[in-house]
Amino acid sequence: MKYINKKLTIEKISVQNIAKKFGTPTYCYSYKQLSENINNFKDNFKSFSPLICFAVKSNTNVNLIREIRRFGLGADVVSKGEMVLSLKAGINPKKIVFSGVGKTSEEISYAIDKKILLINAESYSEIKVIEKIAKLKKKKVRVGIRLNPNTDAKTLSQISTGKKENKFGVNEKIFYELLKYCKNSKNIDLKCLSVHIGSQILDHRPYERMLNVVNRILNKINYKFEFIDLGGGMGISYSKKNKKLNYAKYNSAIKKFLKKHKSKIIFEPGRSIIGNTGALISKVIYIKKSGKKNFVILDAAMNDLIRPALYGAIHETLPSIKLNKKFKGNYELVGPVCESTDKFATLKKFQKLKEKDYIAICDVGAYGMSLSSNYNMRPKPLELLIKGSKTNIIRKRQKLKDLL
Ligand SMILES: *Cc1c(COP(=O)(O)O)cnc(C)c1O
Repeated sequence: MKYINKKLTIEKISVQNIAKKFGTPTYCYSYKQLSENINNFKDNFKSFSPLICFAVKSNTNVNLIREIRRFGLGADVVSKGEMVLSLKAGINPKKIVFSGVGKTSEEISYAIDKKILLINAESYSEIKVIEKIAKLKKKKVRVGIRLNPNTDAKTLSQISTGKKENKFGVNEKIFYELLKYCKNSKNIDLKCLSVHIGSQILDHRPYERMLNVVNRILNKINYKFEFIDLGGGMGISYSKKNKKLNYAKYNSAIKKFLKKHKSKIIFEPGRSIIGNTGALISKVIYIKKSGKKNFVILDAAMNDLIRPALYGAIHETLPSIKLNKKFKGNYELVGPVCESTDKFATLKKFQKLKEKDYIAICDVGAYGMSLSSNYNMRPKPLELLIKGSKTNIIRKRQKLKDLL
């Protein structure tokens, strides 16, 4: 996304033209950015060619998942719905891993029938349910155990998953018990140790600590895992102030680990693949002053993009046409939904806006549309995939009649 002759442009199309042609609010994704992200991700870890399973929960558009599949990626899913979606997008079941703390018997049964690569179990009770269903089906099922490594990912507390107080995975003590249990089971084929410590991680050191924990545990046990699943969580730059994750350091820590433990590495990236490919285009409906505040009221709201309201996440906002006139005060960028948390940002030293202007909220490809809702009876936005000067509607704007 860049300004060409003062017009904000995605690949070869201006935001202004997109807004006029397709209406607002609209999610736009850049194919070029997507392919760059996937190729960079592969490049960062090419010496051990990991299996890369896209975390489908970050973006559930079937057409985008189809594009991602064409790069050879698999899928990390957390529900039957995401499994069905991934299969519909043509992902090979041998590249699907299933995570989640609350898999139901129906979901486990479906996963076994589809012969997916791994069910990553997160509790003793879940292992027993998997075993029972596998036995009924007279099958031996490939399973992973998700370890909670008690590692602080140094990210927002709401998206941290690898500390002992988080609900995810099993602690070290239960891990050993489960290992023993699985080794003796006729219906469980224990293939994988998995970890995932959180999301939007920008410091490589939590990953190093996580690897140290896994290394220490593997040294204690006499068991060879075919796969070590390191999860996802790689952070992206939401603002120029964000530092970048040092992939080279993460890569060398893994290479060092692999010298001692020869397993196939699995990654489950979501945000780092799709996050910076998307922008939400919206129109200014009204501008109003209230006390000291200057509200810019958009036609997009927290139901379309909930990250700011849910996590206090900050997304860069850009005007569709660049002007030199700066607004003296601050703008409160808000949506029309009846909640005071329906606010995207406080814009300081922003250019002067007027009603009917278009703006773009950046880096919303991950956990944007996939977390959207119909709150306030608002139909969901249209999704557009941009390839050069071509636009492709990859999900139609929802109609009011779909909600009635
Ligand atoms: C959400 C999730 C991911 C993806 O996290 P990102 O931060 O988007 O890379 C990977 N694995 C598991 C188990 C998850 O729950």
